[in-house]
Amino acid sequence: MNVYFQTLGCKVNQYETQEMTEALTNCGYTISELSDADIVIVNSCTVTAESDRKVRQCVRHLKKLRPDYVLVLTGCASQADPSLFDELPEADIVLGNNTNLLLPETLEEFFASRKRILRVEKHTSAAEYKGCGITKFNEHTRAFLKIQDGCNRYCSYCIIPESRGRSRSKTPQEVRSEAAALAANGFSEIVLVGINLSDYGAGTDCSLPDAIEAASSPDCIKRVRLGSLEPDHLTDEMLERFSALPKLCEQFHISLQSGCDKTLKAMNRHYTASEYADLCDKLRRKFTDASLTTDIIAGFPGESEEDFLQTLEFVKKIRFEKVHVFPYSKREGTRAALMPQLLNAVKNERAARLSALAEDIRRDYLASQTGRRLEVLFERGCNGVFEGYTKNYTPVKLVSGEDMRGIITYVTITGSDGEACLAKL
Ligand code: SF4
Repeated sequence: MNVYFQTLGCKVNQYETQEMTEALTNCGYTISELSDADIVIVNSCTVTAESDRKVRQCVRHLKKLRPDYVLVLTGCASQADPSLFDELPEADIVLGNNTNLLLPETLEEFFASRKRILRVEKHTSAAEYKGCGITKFNEHTRAFLKIQDGCNRYCSYCIIPESRGRSRSKTPQEVRSEAAALAANGFSEIVLVGINLSDYGAGTDCSLPDAIEAASSPDCIKRVRLGSLEPDHLTDEMLERFSALPKLCEQFHISLQSGCDKTLKAMNRHYTASEYADLCDKLRRKFTDASLTTDIIAGFPGESEEDFLQTLEFVKKIRFEKVHVFPYSKREGTRAALMPQLLNAVKNERAARLSALAEDIRRDYLASQTGRRLEVLFERGCNGVFEGYTKNYTPVKLVSGEDMRGIITYVTITGSDGEACLAKL
């Protein structure tokens, strides 16, 4: 039988799609394009109201496209809201991110009975990390390796703790063997991901540097990159250990969300703007080529123009290499949804101002790389133009007569086109 995956959401969801893919292919299923599929699996996201809307639209559209598809809905949306089983009769099977791995036997059960199945289990506080691991990462040059799940934080705008449960982690030994399997399948770069990655090892005597060491252990793995991090988890001791790990990529994506202490408090974030700035200083002192990137929410409930100007000033001060800007999106079920909301026009106008500033800083950064000799892993390319990233995740474009995909090599930066650095071999 042919199976097609429609994956919505984050890197963790993409990893879990790979995990389900391998579980199914080990049972004789074939992964196919949508047009050839018998079974369609929607791996859903619920991070914003917009994500929720997309899940419903996607399920209805796919079933309308081919009513004979066996349609499976899984992931965070159904985990957080099992009543989607009633709301979406188009879905023949509804699982959650806690029961993903029961997919093979649940499909068998469905084909035997042809009755709709709802199988979503609530996360429990004592839950251990569950997973069967991956050996490859289809259609990617870099492999995402999930090492942690869940979050104990409860930021006031976030529903994820509801859909992902308490923080729990893989053991370093499990990370080591999975990295070895990926290396054996030709991967040279691994990206460690989690729901709250910097909380890796919470409740055990391990921490994130142990996972990086484990992922770095196979010789063929040349680079270990980190997914999104929380600032207040990054202790001085952790930074000290990071700096002793040669394969660790010097790119730190550390969620800021706001540069104003009053707004950070309302968000239930556990640090101040000056503590965040100190962390940036420490990282730039320890890693000469550190690239600092971040996420910021514009227009959070109660954010005044003065508060927002503090965030703008903060971004000017830190000069992030890249900023992902999100206009605040109200998410039912969160504390922030109960707060007085700003007008969409205000949110979007602030997001536009912040994005413009961040883009200016980024263009200056890309131009400042001219003349440097940098190591790049090229990932994709066509018509002789290849694209890849340096260790600190600076995008680079190269014109070459050779197929550069999957190759790590040094180039000289000759300029930038505002989106990426241009290079020559
Ligand atoms: S740290 Fe905050 S924003 Fe991140 S997943 Fe946890 S609750 Fe959500």
